[in-house]
Amino acid sequence: MANPTTNESSSNARPDDGPGNFIEDIVKDDLSAGKHGGRVVTRFPPEPNGYLHVGHAKSICLNFGISALSPSGVCNLRFDDTNPLGEDTEFVESIKHDIRWLGFDWADREYYASDYFEKLYDFAERLIREGKAYVDSQTDEQIKEGRGSFHKPGVDSPFRDRPADESLDLLRRMREGEFEDGAHVLRAKIDMRSTDVKMRDPLMYRIRRAPHHRTGTKWCIYPMYDFAHGLSDAIEGVTHSLCSLEFQNHRALYDWFVNAIGFDDPPRQIEFARLNLGYTVLSKRWLQQLVREKHVTGWDDPRMPTLAGMRRRGFSAAAIRSFCTRIGVARNDQQVDIALLEHAVRSDLDPRTPRVMAVLRPLKVVIENFPEGAAEVFDAPLHPTDASFGSRKVELRREVYIEHDDFMENAPKQFFRLKPGGEVRLRYACILKCENVIKDDAGNVVELRCSWDEASRGGNPADGRKIKGTIHWVSAATAMDAEVRLYDRLFSAEDPTDVPEGESFTRGLNPDSLVTLRGAKLEPHLAASQPGRQVQFERLGYFTEDVNDSKPGAQVWNRTISLKDGWAKIAGKLG
Ligand code: ATP
Ligand code: MG
Repeated sequence: MANPTTNESSSNARPDDGPGNFIEDIVKDDLSAGKHGGRVVTRFPPEPNGYLHVGHAKSICLNFGISALSPSGVCNLRFDDTNPLGEDTEFVESIKHDIRWLGFDWADREYYASDYFEKLYDFAERLIREGKAYVDSQTDEQIKEGRGSFHKPGVDSPFRDRPADESLDLLRRMREGEFEDGAHVLRAKIDMRSTDVKMRDPLMYRIRRAPHHRTGTKWCIYPMYDFAHGLSDAIEGVTHSLCSLEFQNHRALYDWFVNAIGFDDPPRQIEFARLNLGYTVLSKRWLQQLVREKHVTGWDDPRMPTLAGMRRRGFSAAAIRSFCTRIGVARNDQQVDIALLEHAVRSDLDPRTPRVMAVLRPLKVVIENFPEGAAEVFDAPLHPTDASFGSRKVELRREVYIEHDDFMENAPKQFFRLKPGGEVRLRYACILKCENVIKDDAGNVVELRCSWDEASRGGNPADGRKIKGTIHWVSAATAMDAEVRLYDRLFSAEDPTDVPEGESFTRGLNPDSLVTLRGAKLEPHLAASQPGRQVQFERLGYFTEDVNDSKPGAQVWNRTISLKDGWAKIAGKLG
């Protein structure tokens, strides 16, 4: 990826070195051929109608990374706010916040397509005067019908040859608000018989009486994406306009508008594959629906593939950038295994999180040969390999909690945790033997009566006998209660959009994507609440104290990711 040392003026995150990509090759070739006067200007053009998701992160890393190929390269942030419906300043603010959080800085290059409304309008008048645009007064239906299809050539609108003056007059009156929505549109006069349907006199402006989050009620006509986008790029002097593949068939139109206006050094559109991720959806329309219909608690619900959701769940910006580097940039559609993202998150958390013990589904153990009121104190390292983390003290008392799952009454031979009459190691502390199982009237196991081997202080038996299993625990007297939220994939199927016609994609939501455990027990090392901090609960996974809901005395922890690394397994199998 980009060589960070060549971009000293920028405070942008350094994309990790990854393999180069075809866009990088194009830009490097342009640079060595002296194209665009040695300039590299890219842009990230979000529409402010939702929060950014991890697909946007890919585009951001790519655009900033490419701009850094030149020492003077820049990447603009341009809000593509040409459609007033659904756009909002809340989204503008969240987008800016998320890009900065991800580690990128557009400095003072913050632009809005709506800032160009006046300029775009002037361009439109110019195209009319030059015979390259006309006002069409057909209905939407008629326009659609006349456009034809791939198999059916288009037919000219009866208004196509209306005199330029008449079109100009109508466009001005459209702007003045004289007409109802849909009464007229402005169309480019290109070619109704083009084999490319997009080139059959595409719309440039439509009347839409809707207030805009920045221009208020100043305008009641709004430019269409294809007209506004390329010209906004050209106005800003963008050299390489990177967009996702679905815009490939817009490219001819992009070029047509830019050439019709006649820019000296027009931008070049290059398409790349958008990111699709298994078990989730990466389309704002669908994410909006999840929020609106309250399938999630909001844009920052930790199950959402938004940057806000991932951040709250505990994914770091570095992990997301590293993921974006690893997936690379392809020309063809890309379905990425979510295990790769999870792998990036684990790799990021492993070296930097302290280890502590927590019991999520507690089962009480009474150590009958351990005196009441006594305590045995052990030293436990906070990290298995990095001594600089130091250690904390763990205190063994007569009553402890262990994980319900770590006990099994009728256990198979391979079960090396606790079973009746069996022995197991309490991590850092001692060997424990299960003497008796206490049940309630319904036959549920509610308590274990155990004994400890005093000679095994620190965890190993004095006589050298082998103890295969080691489990985590916390002492009942010193444990702290907390709420723990276990998150799983939001959808049950890898491709949630693959649903029978007429059915909503929401039918594929995973009913167990959130499991809330209210009586979890944490070791007292975590007593002081500190929202946002991250730890590994030994044997369970990486957890992040929730920034929204956690409070002193009532902590809430999100499971960021479990320890089971599906990707390592896949990678192992492959190689
Ligand atoms: P959506 O389909 O989710 O609404 P969008 O493309 O309409 O996405 P924009 O706000 O217009 O959302 O996107 C801004 C930029 O991010 C565009 O250049 C777009 O190509 C890019 N982008 C959006 N989704 C992805 C994705 N999944 N992978 C890569 N780039 C993406
Ligand atoms: Mg878009």
